[in-house]
Amino acid sequence: MAIVSKIIDGKMYAGKLLEEIYPLSKGFFDNFNRKPSLTVIIVGDNPASKIYVKNKILIANKYGIDSKEIILASDVSEDKLIKHISTLNRDENVDGILVQLPLPKHISEKKIINIINPSKDVDGFHPTNFGKLFMGDSKFIPCTPLGCLYMLKHEIEDIKGKNAVIIGRSNIVGKPMASLLLSSDCSVTITHSRTKNIQEHTRKADILIVAVGIPEMIDETFIKPGAIVIDVGINRLKSKTKHNASDKGILVGDVKFENVLNTAKKITPVPGGVGPMTIACLMHNTVKAAYINKKHDFINILEGIL
Ligand code: NAD
Repeated sequence: MAIVSKIIDGKMYAGKLLEEIYPLSKGFFDNFNRKPSLTVIIVGDNPASKIYVKNKILIANKYGIDSKEIILASDVSEDKLIKHISTLNRDENVDGILVQLPLPKHISEKKIINIINPSKDVDGFHPTNFGKLFMGDSKFIPCTPLGCLYMLKHEIEDIKGKNAVIIGRSNIVGKPMASLLLSSDCSVTITHSRTKNIQEHTRKADILIVAVGIPEMIDETFIKPGAIVIDVGINRLKSKTKHNASDKGILVGDVKFENVLNTAKKITPVPGGVGPMTIACLMHNTVKAAYINKKHDFINILEGIL
């Protein structure tokens, strides 16, 4: 198989989804005389978080979504952050609220996620949405796993009965991904930092999702020949460790891309794989939140995916 056809083009899929979202955000404006709106709260000056938020806002503006950023100092108190969220919860003109994680250590992420109105929880992290996801009935599905599922459903003709293995058990990626794959009739295994002989599991995977946060941890010895590999990891390496003239360093995934490319049937690159899909799914959830908050039907553009 030609190398290019082995690469799952996340940018292309994200573009496709965003093109479907745009008429809905425009339709919302025509009906309600304002754009769907997303407010992102960022605490502190984590450079990676700043880049993610900037990208989210750029895409929102391009696809007819009003976006606002609230930047708080890294020493802001938990109470003050809660007050900001409570104000946004009450504001009828705010449809989606996203608190960029991670938060500084003195703030409880759990408490903050709990405060967000579940109807505005476009990240899908609130316990109500998270619990409903596991019952197969969630309004808002976490964006990264949703983006992974979108690509998988387009790349695999029949996903039913496939062996899916996930490395990583976080609430943001691993666990919701497992739920989505289970609902798609896969047999699902979650592995993690305490799993023994992890390769024994991953070598049986028709679908391997990697969300660990360790640069290029996964090489071909983890891969079943012909597997579909989704690399969720985003790790920024200093440029001197790789051949790259850019001062910003280089982004790599959790998978050794070139090494795995031969063994896998298909693989997502980093950058250009899961990242753009995560943002597109956030836009989807924001527009959906806008319609739901106006008690208006939302056209399911993810038919066949969910
Ligand atoms: P996390 O730190 O919350 O979880 C990491 C998981 O990996 C844990 O469950 C842990 O048990 C597991 N793990 C750690 N070491 C391991 C090992 N040696 N073997 C097996 N499992 C191990 O991270 P997260 O939030 O799930 O994110 C994972 C990666 O995905 C990070 O690189 C993050 O930047 C990236 N990410 C990317 C996107 C995107 O949009 N592309 C979104 C979210 C997260």
